[in-house]
Amino acid sequence: MSITRRFPPIRPALVVTCCECGTATSAPVEVRYIERQSGPGFPLYACPGCAPSLVPGPHRNDAIRNR
Ligand SMILES: [Zn+2]
Repeated sequence: MSITRRFPPIRPALVVTCCECGTATSAPVEVRYIERQSGPGFPLYACPGCAPSLVPGPHRNDAIRNR
């Protein structure tokens, strides 16, 4: 058995830019989900330092209720 079969390559972690401070982070926290009419939506991520100070939501699985 070859070494590459025993130890297959590990995919790199998701590295995204924080929506608050703009730094790249490999430990992103999803804080918001932006819906778009023209296509699929996209999540906004924050770094672990900024995430507690941001108001969370809405996320992609949140139900929006009309009053
Ligand atoms: Zn940040």
